[in-house]
Amino acid sequence: MENDTKLKLDVKHSRIQAIIEGKCPQCREGKMFMYPFWQITKFDKMHDNCPVCNLRFEVEPGFWYGAMFISYAINVAFLAFLGVAIFFVFNDPPILYYIIPITVLSLAAVPFNFRASRSIFIHLFGFVKYKPRE
Ligand SMILES: [Zn+2]
Repeated sequence: MENDTKLKLDVKHSRIQAIIEGKCPQCREGKMFMYPFWQITKFDKMHDNCPVCNLRFEVEPGFWYGAMFISYAINVAFLAFLGVAIFFVFNDPPILYYIIPITVLSLAAVPFNFRASRSIFIHLFGFVKYKPRE
């Protein structure tokens, strides 16, 4: 019966939950970012080390350059979705009806995109092992 408790899904500390909330990949409790993403002047401010387990977030020098590939993929998917949505909702409007909303919305999505790409990148490609705290 003791194994039953170990098999329970730990939703609070799942990898998906940690990626969504921008939590540390090692302890999944400490926040990676100092401020919420809607504070647009400070959305990019990160802790150097995890406030809970002291993991250094920039695993190696230049580590965050890799997050640009994730950011690019997210942005392309977002823009393609918007383009297709505009095409069908407005029945193939002139080109300016694509350019203006796509430009504005992709700029508005920068804080979200920046943080999501870093969070996804460190969790999937940081090779940091999850060490739950006792
Ligand atoms: Zn941590």
